Amino acid sequence: MKAMVLNEIAGIESSPLELVELPDPRPGPHEVRLRVRCCAICRTDLHVVEGDLPRHTLPIVPGHQIVGIVDDLGPGCGKSQVGQRIGVAWLRHTCGSCAFCAAGRENLCEVSRFTGYHEHGGYATHAVVPEDFAYEIPEAFGDTDAAPLLCAGIIGYRALKRCQLPPGGKLALYGFGASAHVVLQIALHRGNEVYVVSRGGGHAELARRMGATWVGNDATQMPEKADSAIIFAPAGGLVPVALAALKKGGTCALAGIYMSQIPPMDYERHLFYERDLHSVTANTREDGRELLAEAARIPIRPHTNAYPLADANRALGDLKADRINGTGILVMDG
Ligand SMILES: [Zn+2]
Ligand SMILES: [Zn+2]
Repeated sequence: MKAMVLNEIAGIESSPLELVELPDPRPGPHEVRLRVRCCAICRTDLHVVEGDLPRHTLPIVPGHQIVGIVDDLGPGCGKSQVGQRIGVAWLRHTCGSCAFCAAGRENLCEVSRFTGYHEHGGYATHAVVPEDFAYEIPEAFGDTDAAPLLCAGIIGYRALKRCQLPPGGKLALYGFGASAHVVLQIALHRGNEVYVVSRGGGHAELARRMGATWVGNDATQMPEKADSAIIFAPAGGLVPVALAALKKGGTCALAGIYMSQIPPMDYERHLFYERDLHSVTANTREDGRELLAEAARIPIRPHTNAYPLADANRALGDLKADRINGTGILVMDG
């Protein structure tokens, strides 16, 4: 198979992903192999490449928003079929027996493993996944519609749960990248009003066009305080800003896997009156299935920008420099 491999952690500007030919992976017991059709890129991939996260497997093929066609089954597979279209996301293993798994919180499992982090992901023509961690892709979606839902969408969906947006409530989104623009569509479809705080440019324009009631770069200018907020930008400085712009009893969810330092906060201005701060850690498979079902009903149409596999460095560079509106996707040829 062809793959974009990361051998050493480095800034994306030095193009650390290298196009190589590797032996086709063989699916192990209860695993399926897929021929990758496309793989959406994610800010987490950038954190993996640049070393912002704890040490992971090296060399590694990044990518955890994969859509492809099953082309081989390992021993013991019970429900997958060759020719079936499936999706692969970040979470690829949990123990199933720890206290978190038993309580339906497998996203917190102590021994969870992740795609494109512990094991090779989808910046490649082929990938392997345990069949229990593959998602069926609803027919409502084309391949490139579905790929951004597999992390941007699922994490956005979990963040939307974690921010406890009340029916008819007002939601503030900080940052308007791939996740936020999926959440915007879900929240509007549910009858909520959405404010978008964004540094401007193309993101602000897209948010306005997609139906945000208010878009601006200064949260104090929102028409009114929000019931709930989600911070997508990895900028800790936004935490006190978002909390100060919440109504009493409001909740702010932090959607990122990484965030820069959060500045000191003032109890009265930022937290008192029962304002809550909830982080978001990965997702459960149930979140993924719920998101795909709701997204198919709406139906959600992610805004996408295609790149060839060999241009993965350029795609991640564009993401880092904020040059992508919506989601960047590596599309395999053939
Ligand atoms: Zn567990
Ligand atoms: Zn991701």
